[in-house]
This record gives sequence, C-alpha cells and structure tokens, in this order.
Amino acid sequence: MTASSSSFIPSRSTADWQALDAAHYLHPFTDHAALARKGTRVITRAEGVYLYDSDGRQILDGMSGLWCVNLGYGRRELAEVAYRQMLELPYYNSFFQAAHPPAIELARLLVEVTPPQYTHVFFTGSGSEANDTVVRAVRRYWDVLGQPQRTVIISRKNAYHGSTMAGASLGGMAPMHAQGGLPIPGIVHIRQPYWYGEGGDLSPEEFGKVAARALEEKILEIGPDKVAAFIGEPIQGAGGVIIPPSTYWPEIQKIAQRYGILLVADEVICGFGRTGEWFGSQYFGIEADLMPIAKGMSSGYLPIGGVMVADRVARVLIEKGGDFNHGFTYSGHPAACAVACATINILRNEGIVDRVRSDIGPYLQQRWRELADHPLVGEARGVGLIGALELVKDKATRQGFADPGEIGTLCRDICISNGLVMRAVRDTMIIAPPLVMTRANVDELMDKARRSLDETLQKAS
Ligand code: PLP
Repeated sequence: MTASSSSFIPSRSTADWQALDAAHYLHPFTDHAALARKGTRVITRAEGVYLYDSDGRQILDGMSGLWCVNLGYGRRELAEVAYRQMLELPYYNSFFQAAHPPAIELARLLVEVTPPQYTHVFFTGSGSEANDTVVRAVRRYWDVLGQPQRTVIISRKNAYHGSTMAGASLGGMAPMHAQGGLPIPGIVHIRQPYWYGEGGDLSPEEFGKVAARALEEKILEIGPDKVAAFIGEPIQGAGGVIIPPSTYWPEIQKIAQRYGILLVADEVICGFGRTGEWFGSQYFGIEADLMPIAKGMSSGYLPIGGVMVADRVARVLIEKGGDFNHGFTYSGHPAACAVACATINILRNEGIVDRVRSDIGPYLQQRWRELADHPLVGEARGVGLIGALELVKDKATRQGFADPGEIGTLCRDICISNGLVMRAVRDTMIIAPPLVMTRANVDELMDKARRSLDETLQKAS
C-alpha cells in the first residue's frame, strides 16, 4: 500500500491501481496492448530529480516529466504561490476587456525575459493551443493586411507542434497524420535538418544549407504570395532531439525575409533555459515573429502556454485587427500565471540559465559524448541539458536496425528497470533532465545509461 498526501486520492496497492487503470483509463500516446501486458507504471510522488513509483522504487527522471519540470520536483514556493492565488482569486478570465494581476504581471515578466522584438503575449492552456493560436493569428495578420490569400504555413516532416487538429497538422509526424485525416488544408511540410539520418556524404554545414533551401523551393512551388509563415522548433525535440547544423537557421531566416513570410519559433521545449540560453532562438540567433511557449514556463507545475508576439505583428492585430475571435476559458488562468511568475523569478534569482550554459550543461555534454564509444552508439549529440544517442547496427555506415523502434523500446524498458527515465524515439534515446541537476546526478545518469546500453546490446545480440 502507498501513502497518499490527499484524502481524496485513496491509497491502493500497485496491482489495484493497475487493474483500475486498465479498466477505465484511455492513455495519451500509449500502446494499450503493451500496457495491458506489462501493467502501467504508477508514479506516486517525486522530489528533486527523482520519481518514486507505487512500489517505492526511486527513478532518476532524465526527461523532466515531458520536458517540462525544469526546476525539479517538490519546489514549495511554486505550490505555495498556487495555493495563495487559489484562495485570493482561483479563476477569472481575460475575455471582454477583463484581466487580473497574475496575468498582467506574467505578461510583463515574459516581455522582460524574451528577445526584444516581443512586446505582447497571448495566453493558452498548453503548447498545442499555442500552436492553434499561431495558425489563427498568422492568418488573421495577413487578412488584416489585405492579403487574405496568404494562408499556407510551411512546417517540417518529423516536427512536433502538439496534438490538437492544427497542432498535429503543423507537426510532421506521419503516424499522427494517418489518424484523423491530417494535415488540415493549408499546411505543408519540407524536409528536416537531420544530418545524422539524412546528411549522407555532405558535411553538416553543407547539409544545413541544403535542408534550409527546401523552404525556398516550397515557397516558389506554392507561390510566394500564398505563403503566410514558416514554423520550426529550434531543436526538434519529440522528433529525436534533432539539432540543426549551424548553417540552417541563418539560411531559413534569410529566405523568410526574402519572401516576407512570418517566422515562428516553437520554443515549447527549448524555452526557459533548456539550451543554456533563455530561448533556443537566442542559441541559434533566430529572430522570429511569433514564439509559442509552454512546459518550462511553469516548470510543469500547472498547465499554461502562450504565444509571444513581436511588436510589428502585435501592432497590426491590435491597431487594425479589432476583435480577435479566439481564446480559451483557461487563457491566463490566475493560479497558472502566478506559478509561471514564480518560475521565472526562480530561474532568474538562482541563475539557473547561466548555470546550464556555463557549468552543468557543458559537464553533462562532456559526459554524454563519452557514450559515443559504446558499440551501439552511432552519435551522441546535445546542447545544454538536452541530448540524443543514435543506436545503430553499424557505426561506420550509420546503418540502423531492421525493425526501427524495437531496440529503442528495449533500451527504454531496460533504463526504467535500472532506475532511469530515458525516452526512445524509434532507435534514438533522448534525455532532457531537470535544469537543477547536480554533477552527482549527471554521473548517476551516465552510469545508468551505460549499464542500460550494455544490457541492451547483450539482449539484442
Ligand atoms: N510544441 C512542441 C515543440 C512540443 O514539444 C510540444 C509538446 O511536446 C507541443 C508543442 C505541444 O504542447 P502540449 O503538449 O502542451 O500541448
């Protein structure tokens, strides 16, 4: 039996939780046949960088939940600020000329910590809603400017921008498109800047330019006067931590400028310190017009997202646009906004982003790259506190395994049994641990990762 901190959630045995889960719970992104076979993993509490399951096992969270718990678990200030806000004003909205202090204060803080072109924010409840907002705002922008035919948004194959109809359409995940008739009209995809997988004999720098020029080719194919925007994650997270070559984003920026299309940097994963800069845009020198944010914005303690809007776009929407017929009940939820304000203050006051850039990030990257000597690892790449390992059959030729995903899933399960959460994207193992990791935590992660790779190799051969 496990103890529970809330009298509303009873204590039950692992077997009882698993039986109830199997009976009633339709999970997101879960193979239910495998779930029924193995039984769900029930996480009951967490502290710092560690999760604890219903059997009391400690697991190092190498993924910060879903790339969001950047400050680690158990930060009392975040819980207390939510509690106080819920007593003061648990809910009010920002529709119809209303607002409340937590949302206004968060808007002010976000404008302070984001790149200088951003002067406004539109709040949402998630990253997916932020990307739906991007589609609405981008099309509204061109409409107001008298170019309503500019509706097409160009994205990339294997991108991830969320799971709503618009978010999944902007994303380039073939298995998602295959379910539900996606993408919706007006969204097209170009190749991704995945040098390890697709670069062939080109150097990363050459390949970066080739991949970026696919944007120009697509704009010309569609007709420049029909293209509204290009969207990309600075680093593709869910696609397998694909870090574009240094030549990629500068070329994309030039092309967007050349054809006058809006540039959207989806910072839902990269934002709030993951790369060692406040935003991935700063790491790559991207100057975008719109910037979806979520996840690390509240360190995952409460759901919140938003879209940062550059001054030139905001002015069109505000001065010429009139009513923007868009919004969510939980756009700027007071408790979520209060927690996000506290998160930003902690990031600042504790110098966490600087520490990722100059101390724990370089240390993790140095140790991570040591794994490249393992017989299964074709490439170990990363930036700040995000990284990927390519598991391959043949390191010299970069040839992968016959059944993509099998070895990755095996490795992921072995990691869990060794007390480490590492995620598998096909046969790419990825990490994005809490930004507050210590060097000892990094060493533990590396030891567990290496042991898990050894066991994976043993079981696979
Ligand atoms: N955009 C990116 C880059 C993401 O990685 C995600 C989620 O992983 C989303 C958007 C969607 O965010 P949410 O799951 O909060 O809707």
